[in-house]
Amino acid sequence: MSDSVVIVGAGQAASQLVASLRSEGYAGGIVVIGDETHIPYQRPPLSKAYLKGEIATDRLFIKPPEFYRSAGCTLKLSTRATAIDRRARTLSLSDGSSLPWSKLVLATGSRVRKLPLPGAEDPACRYLRGIDDVDALRPHLVEGARLAIIGAGYIGLEVAAVAVKRGLKVTVIEAAPRVLARAASPQISGFFEDEHRKAGVDLRCYVRTESIDRLGDALAINTSSGIVAADAVLIGVGILPNTELAGDAGLEVENGIRVNAFAQTEDPDIYAIGDCANLPSSYAVEGRVRLESVQNAIDQAKHAALSILGRPKAYDEVPWFWSDQFDLKLQIAGLSAPQDQIVLRGDRASRSFAAFHLRDGAVTSVEAVNAAPEYMMGRKLIAARARVAPERLADRAIPMKDMT
Ligand code: FAD
Repeated sequence: MSDSVVIVGAGQAASQLVASLRSEGYAGGIVVIGDETHIPYQRPPLSKAYLKGEIATDRLFIKPPEFYRSAGCTLKLSTRATAIDRRARTLSLSDGSSLPWSKLVLATGSRVRKLPLPGAEDPACRYLRGIDDVDALRPHLVEGARLAIIGAGYIGLEVAAVAVKRGLKVTVIEAAPRVLARAASPQISGFFEDEHRKAGVDLRCYVRTESIDRLGDALAINTSSGIVAADAVLIGVGILPNTELAGDAGLEVENGIRVNAFAQTEDPDIYAIGDCANLPSSYAVEGRVRLESVQNAIDQAKHAALSILGRPKAYDEVPWFWSDQFDLKLQIAGLSAPQDQIVLRGDRASRSFAAFHLRDGAVTSVEAVNAAPEYMMGRKLIAARARVAPERLADRAIPMKDMT
């Protein structure tokens, strides 16, 4: 059999893997199987510039269609991979065909978690994961309309920021005591809560959604603190990794497809990269992590390419992520833990500040709001496991570049 890398999933990680395989000198066949109709695209703008209507669909594409053609890569779209036969080394597809592989890469990403509540199956309750979801939501974002958002994670808050600026009446319902509870420190949560309220968002934390009823053209969301009436509902209550293909093939799955530092599963010819992978990380307190970020999809794909080419290089990059809300850019690097000491630098009122996390004296994470130097230097400090005195970090009179 001739050499062939088959990639399942046509998203951020897959696109990078095609580019890296070719730039690193891989000469064999590459086939990408994707169940969406689109060529690989970036998702971050979906809840930002694309939702606002500032960029056209083709600006979302990571590479133009010609890239895949000139890379000699077969893109098989609108097709699902349905089963892996590890002994025969074949992959079954939804069109009834089957593909041989010498290396198989699972880049299946994640899917939205559905809200398991009565009434949430109403088609007016929408989710946001792909281009088609935004295209379906956008016509409902009209001035004066009532939008209810269930879940105050990054996607819920980014959509809230766009919608309230467009003149919608936005209510955000969050079961946790604070927004971004899973992903940010209380200091950052508190800051974004204030910003959303100042902008006119009706933000309700510690409120449980119980059921959703249809009221003619509108919806009534029954919550633990009363009814919220809405013309449109967006649900953003997290995502689940797409691991079923791996699990059904007998590969280990535990909050993602378990891989080593070279992106290999326990079967050394099957890899997993991006949102669907659970990987070792020296930055995680537990030693392993599943990341939902562009950085991880790209960097893990680069390392998988080297491993496929027989030049393995262990992956252990500093994780980083960003979110845009209003005129605020939040940039996060590293992985924090609840017991970390938090040091604030800058003034919240100036809308440019950072929260540094320290563990045993070493910088583990930075959350920077409109504070690029803090973010950039913070990443370096995290990678170096640098120990910086809290009072120096807190002192904006000391430039970040001197923080070593
Ligand atoms: P994806 O890009 O999701 O690609 C996986 C693809 O595989 C999908 O097309 C899926 O349909 C397909 N697939 C799954 N199973 C199969 C199968 N069996 N057969 C065929 N195809 C299959 N990250 C950031 O770092 N910063 C941000 O600001 C940010 N904002 C975001 C905003 C939104 C609205 C969303 C949805 C995500 C955002 N992310 C952000 C997360 C980031 O986009 C993801 O982490 C990244 O796309 C992961 O890449 P991936 O290749 O692992 O998965």
